[in-house]
Amino acid sequence: MVVVGAGMAGVQTAVALREQGFKGPVAVIGAEPHQPYDRPPLSKAVLLGKAEDSAFDVDFESLGVELRLGCEVLGLRPAERELDTEAGPVPYDVLVLATGAEPITMPGTEGVPGVHLLRTLDDAERLKPVLARQHEIVVVGAGWIGAEFATAARQAGCAVTVVEAADRPLAGALPAEVAAPMTAWYADAGVELRTHARVEHIEPGAVVLADGTRLPAGAVVVGIGARPATAWLAGSGVELGPHGDVLADDRLRTSVEDVYAVGDCASFPSARYGERLLVHHWDNALQGPRTVAGNILGETPAVYDPVPYFWSEQFGRFVQYAGHHAAADQMVWRGDPTSPAWTVCWLREDRLIALLAVGRPRDLAQGRRLIEAGRSMNAEALADPAKSLKDATAT
Ligand SMILES: Cc1cc2nc3c(=O)[nH]c(=O)nc-3n(C[C@H](O)[C@H](O)[C@H](O)COP(=O)(O)OP(=O)(O)OC[C@H]3O[C@@H](n4cnc5c(N)ncnc54)[C@H](O)[C@@H]3O)c2cc1C
Repeated sequence: MVVVGAGMAGVQTAVALREQGFKGPVAVIGAEPHQPYDRPPLSKAVLLGKAEDSAFDVDFESLGVELRLGCEVLGLRPAERELDTEAGPVPYDVLVLATGAEPITMPGTEGVPGVHLLRTLDDAERLKPVLARQHEIVVVGAGWIGAEFATAARQAGCAVTVVEAADRPLAGALPAEVAAPMTAWYADAGVELRTHARVEHIEPGAVVLADGTRLPAGAVVVGIGARPATAWLAGSGVELGPHGDVLADDRLRTSVEDVYAVGDCASFPSARYGERLLVHHWDNALQGPRTVAGNILGETPAVYDPVPYFWSEQFGRFVQYAGHHAAADQMVWRGDPTSPAWTVCWLREDRLIALLAVGRPRDLAQGRRLIEAGRSMNAEALADPAKSLKDATAT
């Protein structure tokens, strides 16, 4: 068994193969030189120096998992069942693709001093001294990473401006009504948020906007999204989707025999939501590997159709989301979005299909189970934040 990518999904695949009884050789090949580590702390504790690192607590040696680190995989030749790596060819019987995602860069900014991304441990290490210098920092993109980085930079005492081309934060993920109260979080934290702000170019010491505004910047952090790290699969016969995602099936198999894909690099068809999902969140990189291992080893096919889940810690708030909603789904508010704790639910017909909880972890926990069970809800009871979610089901 060979796994490409030593992030959460790759490591969990190796662990799941052993947990599910596989006794043969397992190798995990990763491009980064570091012991495999977890990414969420990079924009939180690691960035602020509250944690040294975020290495996974996995004893690879006692699991009998061979790690080949600092080794980039360059290509796949399925006819020969071989990978090409920097260290030469590697044969496989079964292959798991877990190469994750890489941040989208701004054209023309490569090599401009003071321009940063935040995806890897090395990125976080480079940013730590930037925070310590308490520079004026400009963050490009008011998405999840932009908000978390801005939070950390404010905590470190930096002056922070976030520029966002859309009219609101998280425009790609949440509707305007839900993102609107989040706009105030930036101001409350002392962060200047500039929406409708398109970056024209970045030069040493400044970000220049399309309207000519020149924002002084001791450092710039670009957080404008990530795309699957799959360029190395070009010409391999592994079918890719429009976002460069490996098109996995509902058992996380790719279009090539005995090649599976999991985590940020792969999309899968969800019968639950009636569409193909490309999920770039931690829980997907934890759950998917169990299905992959089950399908590699098991007699009974296991279908992967999770209720997606993620969390974000921004501006002192714990934000959690479960499920997947579309624009046409009915929104039901629980609580006042200008207060510290509130939830918004999405119903399709009368079934709960998604919810976003701010500072209401119990709503999230109960809601996630109700979504999984496909429970019908009483919208009126649901709208009452004093009632627990599990007491708001339709009778
Ligand atoms: C700063 C940050 C904070 C985050 N915070 C949260 C959070 O709070 N909540 C949440 O739900 N999610 C969060 N996420 C998302 C979450 O970390 C990812 O969804 C998760 O890491 C995906 O795991 P993965 O193994 O699929 O991919 P990755 O973690 O990207 O790992 C893939 C690995 O494969 C390696 N690789 C790529 N190409 C090759 C190649 N050709 N050869 C060999 N190796 C290769 C890469 O170097 C990388 O180490 C955060 C992400 C980041 C970057």
